[in-house]
Amino acid sequence: MFLVIQKRSIVIFLFLLVFFGAYAAILWSGSALTVFNQQAEAGESPVVVIDPGHGGADGGAVAADGTTEAQINLSVSLKLREVLRLAGIDVLMTREEDISVHSPEAATLREQKISDIHNRAALVSDTPNALLISIHQNSLPQVKSVHGAQVFYNTAEGSESLARALQEDLNTYVNTHRAKEVKKIDTSIYLMNHIDAPGILVECGFLSNEAETAQLRQEDYQLKLAVLIAGGYLRCQTAEPTAPESPTVQ
Ligand SMILES: [Zn+2]
Repeated sequence: MFLVIQKRSIVIFLFLLVFFGAYAAILWSGSALTVFNQQAEAGESPVVVIDPGHGGADGGAVAADGTTEAQINLSVSLKLREVLRLAGIDVLMTREEDISVHSPEAATLREQKISDIHNRAALVSDTPNALLISIHQNSLPQVKSVHGAQVFYNTAEGSESLARALQEDLNTYVNTHRAKEVKKIDTSIYLMNHIDAPGILVECGFLSNEAETAQLRQEDYQLKLAVLIAGGYLRCQTAEPTAPESPTVQ
């Protein structure tokens, strides 16, 4: 256990060293600011709301070995909170345990699901200068070979550039076989479409892919995802806004 903790600490330390180095370099050179740190300059620090998708009776996608999306989402999210806090970022979680976030009056499973997603949206909407990072796992049982991480964004200002920053890092360090493109979130995804705040949703991998499921279950791999997501966020906070690059090869 000690070795595991030590290894995790070293990984976090190395990644943060790189990110803070880049952060310091950008500040030193006095670069232009993005929408996020314009808020920070006005004394309105962004608050990252981390949303581990599903939970409780709603396990989300389920792998062949019984691994549920909800449990992977929570593990990655708790590590993301840890890394962002280390970087001095204010963080809120929509859930910290394997629970549904529904109100007590919701009786049926359907009512609980609706109440859960409304409550998550309300948390984001009630948080000044919120930025949503929703963590999910994908599944495509019809094509079990499909794998890799993909970032989706909502229509709020700043979302797409944040998604692109994250996708770039995920393509470099996770999707080494084949890059994926960012995508605007489908209108059917309630939470991402019922907030005014910038929001991204990270589908970290495919639970329908056996090899990727095995990776997603590993603490080290979850930490790698968390560090990449946090790093993309920090880089986006500090970098000059740039025009979207042409899409990467799918
Ligand atoms: Zn999901």
